[in-house]
Amino acid sequence: MRLADYTTIGLGGPAREFVSAATEAELVAAVAAADASGEPVLILGGGSNLVVADAGFDGTVIQVRTRGCGRGGEAGLVTVAAGEDWDAIVAWTIAEGLAGLECLSGIPGLAGATPIQNVGAYGQEVSQAITQLRAYDRTAGTIVAIPNAPCGFGYRTSRFRRSPGRFVVLSVTFRLAEQPLSGPVRYAELAAALGVAIGDRVPGAEARSAVLELRRRKAMVIDPADPDTRSVGSFFVNPVLDRAALAAVEAAVRARWGEGIAVPRFDAGDGRVKVPAAWLIERAGFGRGYSPGDGARISAKHTLALVNCGSATTAALMALAREIRDGVRDAFGVSLAPEPDLVGVAL
Ligand SMILES: Cc1cc2nc3c(=O)[nH]c(=O)nc-3n(C[C@H](O)[C@H](O)[C@H](O)COP(=O)(O)OP(=O)(O)OC[C@H]3O[C@@H](n4cnc5c(N)ncnc54)[C@H](O)[C@@H]3O)c2cc1C
Repeated sequence: MRLADYTTIGLGGPAREFVSAATEAELVAAVAAADASGEPVLILGGGSNLVVADAGFDGTVIQVRTRGCGRGGEAGLVTVAAGEDWDAIVAWTIAEGLAGLECLSGIPGLAGATPIQNVGAYGQEVSQAITQLRAYDRTAGTIVAIPNAPCGFGYRTSRFRRSPGRFVVLSVTFRLAEQPLSGPVRYAELAAALGVAIGDRVPGAEARSAVLELRRRKAMVIDPADPDTRSVGSFFVNPVLDRAALAAVEAAVRARWGEGIAVPRFDAGDGRVKVPAAWLIERAGFGRGYSPGDGARISAKHTLALVNCGSATTAALMALAREIRDGVRDAFGVSLAPEPDLVGVAL
């Protein structure tokens, strides 16, 4: 069982054991059995945020295949099994006349993985809609309900973002607005594509189409016909810099290119700013399509995505990631952190 066949980037060696869990009871039993025998566990969703070593995983990979979704309880509440395809759930909520997830259209993977790194795109994050999730607590051996606040959501992170994690997400409950119009459009690129102003609302289906179109142009929707989609999405998270780190970047930019080049930034609260990693990578000399020639390259459509051309190994991918990380650090003093879960490899 090669894990390359279960990851969107098509990389990863064999799993020693592989269990596919189609029901919640099977999922909990598989995890509990592996834990009882001291066996390392890797929970596998859609494999769209995983980089697995060429040597594979020396333990049990447990694939989540649980299904089910429904509305219930209060108005606007939907509960989704961990194994449901995320994009199908987004489409379903829009068809139900519910708003709050439309900007998260086209993100690959399964619903149960969305809280792990608090998936986000085009001004929405799942943490804005999650009311609670149910999870198997591997330490206590019980099923627990965890409300939003203790999930510790942040930018591309949560308390669950540690592998191997203590909690296996079983289902997620979202509170959505019962309205045919989208939430307020918060992202300038999306507003421009829709021809509306920031803060306007559009029919949910229109927001979804616009997001999918923008994503396809960046190879951010999985498409077997588009080799640039053989990735894990963004490989690096956008660094959040304090004043001193931003000043150092600005000084490095001035020293290299003189006055007149503004470092792009977004407010990240507490006097800190988020600087686009793609901008730093390009300015450090790594353009789209850049490849050291061993099967791994930067996407031709999106500077933040690293792509397996088909012949890459995980070692080659990680070497490219290190080259980029080091180049950005040398140029600007900023250490880029990886977004995907690295299994058996390190940056
Ligand atoms: C083309 C492309 C575009 C992308 N665009 C975006 C984007 O716009 N925004 C964004 O935030 N992300 C994006 N991603 C990253 C990825 O799609 C998300 O992180 C997604 O939520 C991962 O889901 P998955 O089911 O594939 O998880 P996997 O890759 O299978 O797993 C990821 C991590 O979550 C853990 N995990 C999975 N399921 C569970 C569970 N039920 N309980 C506990 N742990 C679990 C795994 O053990 C692993 O550590 C993109 C990826 C690709 C390939």
